[in-house]
Amino acid sequence: MVLVEPRVDGNVGAVARAMANFGFRELCMVNPCTLTDEAFKRAKHANYILKEATIVSSFEDAIADCFHVVGTSGIVTAGEKHYIRIPLTPKEFTDRLEGVEEKIALVFGREDMGLSQEQLARCDLLVSIPSHEEYPILNLSHAVTIVLYELYQRSIHVGSPKKASEPERDRLIQFFDDLLDAINYPEFRRERTSIMFRRIMGRALPSRWEFHTIMGVFGDAAKIIKKK
Ligand code: SAH
Repeated sequence: MVLVEPRVDGNVGAVARAMANFGFRELCMVNPCTLTDEAFKRAKHANYILKEATIVSSFEDAIADCFHVVGTSGIVTAGEKHYIRIPLTPKEFTDRLEGVEEKIALVFGREDMGLSQEQLARCDLLVSIPSHEEYPILNLSHAVTIVLYELYQRSIHVGSPKKASEPERDRLIQFFDDLLDAINYPEFRRERTSIMFRRIMGRALPSRWEFHTIMGVFGDAAKIIKKK
């Protein structure tokens, strides 16, 4: 569980409690606010989660050892051209996790601004809780609770990987970018296409073996094209 710059320490306490309620333990926070008594009061019997929490100074550090990065947002833009914001519901997301063994970072944004465009672009997958259009933004800890409830229903424990994770996904994206290079793909479309590819792979939640297979194909294709 990753909280990016939480500003309200009571919320952090409530997040810790929800985590304990659904059997989650690993909390990582990027530049959080100071935790006062309020956070510990709200956490109740989940104080240990706050005490064990890792604090890092950048988003990249928070997701460094995770294979899949799952962002969350209450703001969803309709239309398939808004590729950064095509979301899954918590249920659709957890349905797809069947058989996924790699470590997942579940990322929640700060109360006032949410996740930045840059952070969202780095996420492999976006989850949004369907809510009323007039006020779709939930309190941070409420959003966490709903997503963890769904995960709990399927007994999926984010942050308890069976295997160690490596940044294979980034290498695959790099191979894809190399392929774009090899075919002289127009510069102005590069970033968009690259993020789109990351998102497609994110929604598919491929296994490590599938990653390597696709990487092999891209690698060979780029080499052959460059030789010509
Ligand atoms: N105005 C902010 C609101 C952030 S609310 C924004 O632009 O997003 C704080 C965090 O709670 C969000 O970053 C997200 O992680 C989570 N959240 C709030 N409402 C949500 C919803 N409907 N679905 C999924 N996550 C939500």
